[in-house]
Amino acid sequence: MVDQKSENNPNDELNLDDVPMDAAQARDATEALAAEQEAGEIEQIAADDSTASGVWNRLLAGNRRFAEGKAEHPRQDPVSREALVDEQHPSTAVLSCADSRVAPEIVFDAGLGEMFVTRTAGPMIDDAVLATLELAITQLGVKLLVVMGHENCAAIAEACEELDALVESTESESGQHADAFMDDLDGIIAASKSTILREVGMSIWQARMAELTTNEEYEQVHIARLIEELVTRSEVIRKALADERLMIVGARYRVSSGLVEVLSF
Ligand SMILES: [Zn+2]
Repeated sequence: MVDQKSENNPNDELNLDDVPMDAAQARDATEALAAEQEAGEIEQIAADDSTASGVWNRLLAGNRRFAEGKAEHPRQDPVSREALVDEQHPSTAVLSCADSRVAPEIVFDAGLGEMFVTRTAGPMIDDAVLATLELAITQLGVKLLVVMGHENCAAIAEACEELDALVESTESESGQHADAFMDDLDGIIAASKSTILREVGMSIWQARMAELTTNEEYEQVHIARLIEELVTRSEVIRKALADERLMIVGARYRVSSGLVEVLSF
């Protein structure tokens, strides 16, 4: 019990900083917390940043607060900013879409110093994105990498249009129906001058080859393919996974509900 309390103390202090309390309120809250712990009724996961799954559970709890309109905006005050002047120890790297509705710090109700965020449309991966994520792992020691797509993604819609146009033009140039060349279209997509078509359209082609048809499915397949690409292209990521220093999760943010869905592949 003593160990449990000492483990929880740093997090309790952080929470109390965010919510002004007088001494009596703080004592009451502490006693209530201790009583709940003794009764085994409290979930330990929300405050446990020592593991990647603990961090992820805390982020998902933040997302639920955000979706319910109960965001706490933690660690965004001047004191938190000043405490981070000389160092940062983010727990999480995020690769997500640049969409104006999908800011990770907001949808996970996170604070300064928590997330090392890379955003590109889609998202898409290039050497700069890889180097950014690798820096987060090697220099900053993030435990968790969240790869997040979202509902109603403009990059997915654009890639669908470009893929349809490519199929149409290939049909008219070859005089063949798409069924005759669809299997081999990946080579043409990979050689395209359009970055969106190469990086996002390839995911849609893969999804269509698996007979998936909806944008939601395309968004999910794209995230799965991005994670595969990260692991294939980055030795740093492969090594961190092998050493169990890193966990990667795939996610899709639902603009309509505010909730992040966890993808399993
Ligand atoms: Zn998007």
